[in-house]
Amino acid sequence: MSNFKDLGLSEPTLQILEKLGFEQPTPIQEKAIPLLLTKDPTDFIGLAQTGTGKTAAFGLPLIELIDEDQPHVQAIVMAPTRELGQQTAQQLESFTSNRKKLNVEVVYGGANIVPQIKALKKPTQIIVATPGRLIDLISRKAVNLKKVEYVILDEADEMLNMGFQEPIDEILSHTLDHRVTWLFSATMPNEIRRIIKQYMVAPEEVAVNTKQQSNKDIAHQYVVTKTANKLPALRRFLDLQPDMRGIMFCRTKRETQQITDELTNLGYGVEALHGDLSQAQRDAAMRRFKSRSMQLLIATDVAARGIDVNDLTHVFNHTLPDQLESYTHRSGRTGRAGKKGVSLAFINPREGRKISHLESKLKVTFEKVEVPSVDDLKASRINNWANLILNTKVDENAEELLQSLQGQLKELSKDELIKRLITTQLDHLMVQSGGNEDLNETQGKPKKQREESNNSGENRYFVNVGTIDGLTKGDLVHFLADIAQVKRKSFGEVILKKNCAYFYIDKQVDSGISKKFEGIEIDGRAIRVNRDDEGNKPKSSGKSKGSPHKGKARRAGQRDFKRSRKRRR
Ligand code: AMP
Repeated sequence: MSNFKDLGLSEPTLQILEKLGFEQPTPIQEKAIPLLLTKDPTDFIGLAQTGTGKTAAFGLPLIELIDEDQPHVQAIVMAPTRELGQQTAQQLESFTSNRKKLNVEVVYGGANIVPQIKALKKPTQIIVATPGRLIDLISRKAVNLKKVEYVILDEADEMLNMGFQEPIDEILSHTLDHRVTWLFSATMPNEIRRIIKQYMVAPEEVAVNTKQQSNKDIAHQYVVTKTANKLPALRRFLDLQPDMRGIMFCRTKRETQQITDELTNLGYGVEALHGDLSQAQRDAAMRRFKSRSMQLLIATDVAARGIDVNDLTHVFNHTLPDQLESYTHRSGRTGRAGKKGVSLAFINPREGRKISHLESKLKVTFEKVEVPSVDDLKASRINNWANLILNTKVDENAEELLQSLQGQLKELSKDELIKRLITTQLDHLMVQSGGNEDLNETQGKPKKQREESNNSGENRYFVNVGTIDGLTKGDLVHFLADIAQVKRKSFGEVILKKNCAYFYIDKQVDSGISKKFEGIEIDGRAIRVNRDDEGNKPKSSGKSKGSPHKGKARRAGQRDFKRSRKRRR
C-alpha cells in the first residue's frame, strides 16, 4: 500500500493531510489521485460510494490543478442533496485551509438565495452546488460558468434518481466545451451510461470493491419478529446498549415520523429525517445527531443519502428495502473508516426469502440473532450499574448523609442492602423496557400460533393521564401499584402518551383493577382506568364511560404526579 507522498501531491497538501490525520490513502484515492494529476486533462469515472474517501480522491487533485491566482470559477462539484453538498464543501475547505486565495462556496436549495448570491461575489474558484439551485443562480446571472474547466458529478446515480437529469444537461451546456468531467457513482444504471456517452471522451475508469469492504467491517444480522413487535424489539436493542448510536431506515415518511413520535413519547433520544420536514428542521436534526445529543436517527433512504457521520455502531432496517443498492447504501452508513459496525434487519416470519436474496446477490452472509430477553437486559443493566458504582467519585457530602441514614438502614446486612438496590434498578428497567414477553418468532410459523404467543399473560389498560401531567413511566407505575395494591413488578410495558397512557398488567393479579380507581381524583380531575386490549380481545361492553365518582385523591398519586419527566440516557 502506498502513502500520500507517492501519489504526486504537493508539499502544502501533504502538510494538510498530516494535520487532518489522513495517514494512508484509501483504495479509490490510491488509484484516482495519481491518475487525475498526471493525465490531466482527462475525463474520469469513479465507481465508489460515500465512505470510501471519494471526496478526497477528487478534491485533492482538484486543488492541485486549480490556479488559485485566477479569481474566476474553475470547477463545479454537483451534489444531490444539501447535506452532501455541505459535507463535500467542508472537506474541500479543510483541504484548502493553507491556500489563502483559494475559495470554495457551497450553494443549495431550500435556503435563502440572497446570502448565497452575496457570497459568490467573492473571487471563488470552486462551487459546490445542488443542481436546481445552480440553475437558479445561473438564470439570475449570479454565477458565470464560462471558464469552468472541471465538472464533478458526485453521487451521479442519486442525482438522476432525484430527477436532476435536465438541470445537469443545462448546467453542462454553460461550461467550456473542452472541460473535463469526473463522475462518481455507486452504481452504473443506463442513464449514467447516457451521460458518459454524451459528455465524456475516453474516460479513465476506477472501481473500488466496496462490497468486499462491507463484508469485512459490517456484520449483517437479522431478527425475526412480528411486524407489530418490531418497535418493542428495537427498544430492547436500544436498552441493551444505551451507548449505541445509529440510523434506522424506514420505508415511508409517514412510518418514519410515526416511529419517531412513539419512541420520543417513550423517552428515547431519537429524531426523524425525511422529506416532509423543512430544511431548517432537517438541519437541526443533523446537528443534534452529529453532536451526539441523541441515540438514533430515523430516516427514509432519500433523506439519509450521503450523510457523513462517522462512528455509527448500528444501522437498523425497520423494513428491508426492495432495491439491493438501497441495502448497500444503508449498511454502508456503519463500519466506516476501519471501524466495525452492525447492520440489523427486523423481518417478519414471512420475509425470510428477502434475506437469502440479499445474501446471494450481495455476496454477504447474514447472521440470525435473537431479540434480547428481559433477562439479558437485567444482566446488562446490573453490569453497567456495577461499573458506574465502581467508577463513581464519592461526593464530599456523602459521609454526612451516610451518618444520618445509618440509623434508618441499620437493620439491613450488606447483602440485603445490595439486593434491595438491585431490585430498585430492575423495577425501573421493567418499567422502561416494556413487557417481558419473548419477541422472537420462528420463520414461517403460522400466524395463529404466533398471535397466541403474544401478550398471553397480560391485560392491557388505558389510563387518562399522560406526560402532560408531568409523569414518567416510573411515576405512573408507582401510582397504579399503590392505588391497585398490586406489586410493581406485576406491571409490564407502559406506553406513555401526551394525554393518556396504556399499561400491561399480569393477568394473575388483575382482579378488575378499573374498580379500584373509581373515586380517585388528582387535582380535581377524575382518574379513569379502562381495559383496552386493542383487538386482542373483544372490548368489554361494560366498560366505564369515563364518569368516575369524585373522591379525595390518595397520597401516592399526589406525591408521584409532582415528579418531573426525566429523559432516558
Ligand atoms: P467520503 O467517502 O469522501 O465521504 O469520506 C468519508 C470520510 O472518511 C470523511 O469523513 C473523510 O474525512 C474520511 N477520509 C477520507 N479519506 C481518508 C483517509 N485517507 N484517511 C482517513 N480518513 C479519510
